[in-house]
Amino acid sequence: MSKENKNFIEQFIDKDLEDGVYDRVQTRFPPEPNGYLHIGHAKSILLNYGIAQEYGGKFALRFDDTNPEKEKIEFVESIIEDVKWLGADYEDRLFFASDYFDEMYEIAIKLIKKGKAYVSDLTADEIREYRGTLTEPGKNDPNRDRSIEENLELFTAMKEGKFQDGEKTLRAKIDMASPNINMRDPILYRVAHLTHHNTGDKWCIYPMYDYAHPLEDAIEGTTHSICTLEFEDHRPLYDWVVREAEFKMPPRQIEFSKLYLTNVVTGKRYIKRLVEEGIVDGWDDPRLVSISGLRRRGVTPSAIKSFVEMAGISKSQGSADYAMLEYCIREDLKPSCKRMLAVLDPIKLVIDNYPEGQTEELPAPNNLENPELGERTITFGRELWIEREDFMEEAPKKYYRLYPGNEVRLMYAYFVTCTGFEKDENGNITVVHATYDPETKSGSGFEGRKVKGTIHWVHAADAKTAKVRLYENLIDEEKGVYNEDGSLNLNPQSLIEKEAFVEPALMEAKPFDRFQFVRNGFFCVDFKDSKEGAPVFNRIVSLKSSFKLPKD
Ligand code: ATP
Ligand code: MG
Repeated sequence: MSKENKNFIEQFIDKDLEDGVYDRVQTRFPPEPNGYLHIGHAKSILLNYGIAQEYGGKFALRFDDTNPEKEKIEFVESIIEDVKWLGADYEDRLFFASDYFDEMYEIAIKLIKKGKAYVSDLTADEIREYRGTLTEPGKNDPNRDRSIEENLELFTAMKEGKFQDGEKTLRAKIDMASPNINMRDPILYRVAHLTHHNTGDKWCIYPMYDYAHPLEDAIEGTTHSICTLEFEDHRPLYDWVVREAEFKMPPRQIEFSKLYLTNVVTGKRYIKRLVEEGIVDGWDDPRLVSISGLRRRGVTPSAIKSFVEMAGISKSQGSADYAMLEYCIREDLKPSCKRMLAVLDPIKLVIDNYPEGQTEELPAPNNLENPELGERTITFGRELWIEREDFMEEAPKKYYRLYPGNEVRLMYAYFVTCTGFEKDENGNITVVHATYDPETKSGSGFEGRKVKGTIHWVHAADAKTAKVRLYENLIDEEKGVYNEDGSLNLNPQSLIEKEAFVEPALMEAKPFDRFQFVRNGFFCVDFKDSKEGAPVFNRIVSLKSSFKLPKD
């Protein structure tokens, strides 16, 4: 890769290697196990993993589990599954911050002994009050000048459970007048009598994120600690912690901007609310951009990878176009999926001049772009199902499908001309009539005339019914996430279920099998709700695209 094409993170790393700051590269993905991962995390995972690969370095998965109130084993397990599914191979480097609690405690003792940390009696509210504002410096903690001996004694007592939650904290002694509020004697440890999913009741003091995170990186031998922009202002504190802890090759923090998507919510707390309020079918509801939701919907890891690559790495905030994700999904599935016939909104087509009782088997290629996928035969006969929208009683201009007098091609079969239709007492069209021209059989080399429209169909007598789910975005961020009363502003069309008529071969489909339903989009067999012989199809993405590839 040429220098110019490298992103700013790679440029930093190149320079670090050139300058001998590091002799190797190690990155990590550090999720807090307090929810399921979403597409934004996928960006971070693939970025960190990709960098490690590119530099022949190492990649680790580390759980930042320092906050037992919100963390659960369920989340640990789902995150592991998602990271593996994305193909980010951490080998034997699966770490837990909680495994370092002893070491972190020892480092805190070291800081106290160096005069760099002290135990405070202030309450959380008082600490906030003393902290000052962006324009005013903070005030010193009355306990700031406690003796080292007293601090050691008190901190030990904190660890031993002698204090109630919130009664004492350990603070770094940095600078209450720093223009960077993060540097105004930040809290390093709090007292919290909580049971941890990993360490049980061993600890009743827990390290704060800004203290724990740099130490986790340093203990593991991370060289480049890649995180998102909101931590930029915390970098001086990150550097302070690893410096004062006296690590020989301290890690370096580099920030990039979070991935956001237009029209959808990505934040864990939104997704959590949708799950907790029962609005969606769990964290893997296919309408969510959680990684498990995308997987259940049928999106592949390679589509996600090309999407995050296309979105690029930068320091400027912006949203990637949801249509770009859809574009990447289509491009990924186009060559690999069989193209099958399914009618989602059926209406009967009767070909009156086709002999009653007769059928024929017609060859149909599985994917014209990919001959390796071979061919199948489909049954054709007198009565077919076609899409309701492929017929109009009175056709507007540029409508090339069926209307009285018009001729269209039935895909893989014959030309048919619409001869009439039937209506029920409510005026709904129930049957469309047509005649076919035996000369126009597909593949026969017929060149007598052309038609402008081609429609798909399934043979009524042997079509099977299958449940099909169509999705739209659940929440449109542009239209506002909340209603005035604080409830979520939900799209009522986000999930539409239909009974479709499909080719009989589709009944054999297995969970996670993917197909293109001709003209209707790409579909994936739902792994939760499908039964043997009764697949449920989730639409992954429609075929229509509003996305234009950026020119470079
Ligand atoms: P959320 O903001 O969705 O609640 P989080 O930042 O709290 O996510 P963490 O578990 O703390 O989630 O994040 C793990 C890693 O993923 C962090 O390095 C974080 O910076 C990164 N990350 C989180 N959201 C995004 C995003 N939208 N784009 C890129 N990286 C992200
Ligand atoms: Mg977080």
